[in-house]
Amino acid sequence: MVIKPKVRGFICTNAHPVGCAQSVSNQIEYIKSLGFEQEGPKNVLVIGCSTGYGLASRITAAFGYGSKTLGICFEKQPSERKTGTAGWYNTAAFHNEAKQAGLYADSLNGDAFSDELKTATIDKIKQDLGKVDLVIYSLASPRRTDPETGEVFKSTLKPVGQAYTTKTYDTDKDKVHEITLEPANEKEIADTVKVMGGEDWQRWLSQLNAAGVLAEGCKTTAYTYIGKELTWPIYGQATIGRAKEDLDRAAQAIMQDASALNVQANVSSLKALVTQASSAIPVMPLYISLIYKVMKQEGTHEGCIEQIAGLFNERLFTDNPPTDELNRFRMDGKETNDATQAKIKALWDKVTQDNFHELSDYAGYNTEFLNLFGFAIKGVDYEADVDPLVDWS
Ligand code: NAD
Repeated sequence: MVIKPKVRGFICTNAHPVGCAQSVSNQIEYIKSLGFEQEGPKNVLVIGCSTGYGLASRITAAFGYGSKTLGICFEKQPSERKTGTAGWYNTAAFHNEAKQAGLYADSLNGDAFSDELKTATIDKIKQDLGKVDLVIYSLASPRRTDPETGEVFKSTLKPVGQAYTTKTYDTDKDKVHEITLEPANEKEIADTVKVMGGEDWQRWLSQLNAAGVLAEGCKTTAYTYIGKELTWPIYGQATIGRAKEDLDRAAQAIMQDASALNVQANVSSLKALVTQASSAIPVMPLYISLIYKVMKQEGTHEGCIEQIAGLFNERLFTDNPPTDELNRFRMDGKETNDATQAKIKALWDKVTQDNFHELSDYAGYNTEFLNLFGFAIKGVDYEADVDPLVDWS
């Protein structure tokens, strides 16, 4: 079939297998070009491995350090009539490239929040890897079924305390408009913490530890976004920010629980980027279009792969890495420094529907959004007939 993007609201409901494979290959080439010299992880578990920051982490581990990688994701398989999700095709492409390079790669597709998948992962580690020395936690999900009670919790993206009126960009209608977001109630805050907080990260590490599959000195990191004043009302100090604060608690608990193995758990703060998760957050598409403009002008723009390459090279696998006061790795400095934020704020104050295309990197945002689903990637023939039925091996 010939596959063209079907964009609905803030998502694209199909994906292009060849485009996804090209995007994975581009990221691999970037990592190989860096030629990492220091010793890295040997056996890596990536929870949320198929898109965005998790995929970049898997690529960095495998092609930067020659690691064996086991990935966990929740993706839809293709059928004769419907394409698979981008994460499905990315994973298939990653497996192919890893195998060609002689690197072990396998993935389990299912609900990472469930104990069944945790047990299956432990069995797989025992069978294929023995132990893991790096666990990346990169899940982004709107809901979680509690494995103990079966109750389903949903996360909300709302301010905390008071309503917040601000500008936003509707990517589907190409419109900048004002929105008012009502504050979350206590239940919505607690439920968001239940989904996106540290409980599941901690549960993973606790079960991996109890099963004896964590190596001595194993490292683990979970990803967060901290941001600054412009995004605090809807992110940092909102429901999702409350959930992310809980990761700091979980990091301490993980280190205590696995202290006999000297496990190191750090939260890593990354920059705002177009991913499937961030395009669903009100305000973020507008903010990201503006930071892309400013950071490209400054020459500091980075995508997922550049951010994660820096995280591995300058924080996770270096001696005495710098951390902030909460023991977090900060990779967000190029976005959150005062000078850059001042430039973004100036654009933010000026931006309207009329001048949006001129003031923002609207084109860059849209291209990167399409790239997530394997579209608008250089060198791919989008008129060609392609087989959507791609499998993993
Ligand atoms: P993403 O949507 O690209 O990736 C999410 C991953 O989680 C995918 O691999 C998906 O398959 C997997 N997943 C979701 N639900 C699952 C489930 N129930 N079981 C198994 N796998 C599941 O998201 P992303 O933007 O790369 O976000 C990853 C992490 O990075 C999140 O914690 C996010 O908050 C954080 N982060 C994102 C940004 C940003 O701007 N995008 C910035 C800083 C931090």
